[in-house]
Amino acid sequence: MPVYTSEALILRTYKLGESDRIVVFLTRDRGKKRGVAKGARKARSKFIGTLEPMTRAGVAYYEREQRDLVRINYVETTRSPLSAATGEALGHVGYFAELIDEWAPEAHADERLFRLGASATDAIAAGAPIEPLARYFEYWILRLQGVYPSLAGCSECGVIFEKGAVMPPRHDLFVCRGCAPSGGARISVEALRFLRAAGSTAPDNLASLALQAQAGTELETVHRRLLNLHLDKELRSARVLREMRG
Ligand SMILES: [Zn+2]
Repeated sequence: MPVYTSEALILRTYKLGESDRIVVFLTRDRGKKRGVAKGARKARSKFIGTLEPMTRAGVAYYEREQRDLVRINYVETTRSPLSAATGEALGHVGYFAELIDEWAPEAHADERLFRLGASATDAIAAGAPIEPLARYFEYWILRLQGVYPSLAGCSECGVIFEKGAVMPPRHDLFVCRGCAPSGGARISVEALRFLRAAGSTAPDNLASLALQAQAGTELETVHRRLLNLHLDKELRSARVLREMRG
């Protein structure tokens, strides 16, 4: 049985049998894996406190031939999002993990996706403001999938966006205000500025990105539409977040 030790990000767990858990985790070098953590639900388990979503950890696991499930030997936490996070940030932890889980292909390494997730954990643990982080995270995860609409100019007439942009209903692109039908979602100059800055800011530096409340709300709306359109559903965690805010 080959043994691997990988830098990883815990995405989610679910119960298996009487006392075990299945752990879904994204490794840096070998993509997304599913593994059995034996006895993880026992009171004295060595896995206690290590399996929260978005925990950065070193994971050692055995890969078994002809089996999809690996067997997890140990998980050693390197950074937990729980260490310094506020309640609001904790609400987002499951959301970020679910987004990565949706888009990470099985057993196919994606260095950029891993870095995005790992940086989000670092930012949460360091107490970064959660709303700009969430909009940055959504922007990049959509962009890494190649589905973030162009910000270069209006997709109808080509004019450069000077007064903001509009996402028409049921579309995943931006047009200028002149070309926009009624009922679209508008984003302001301020929101566009944030997106352009996000595009050239490495995840490690995302704390430097400022986002005003109004622009943040506009981006939340268009990102939710893009995510629902491309995932063909609303994520459970996204719904929970909305309900938490009432
Ligand atoms: Zn136009």
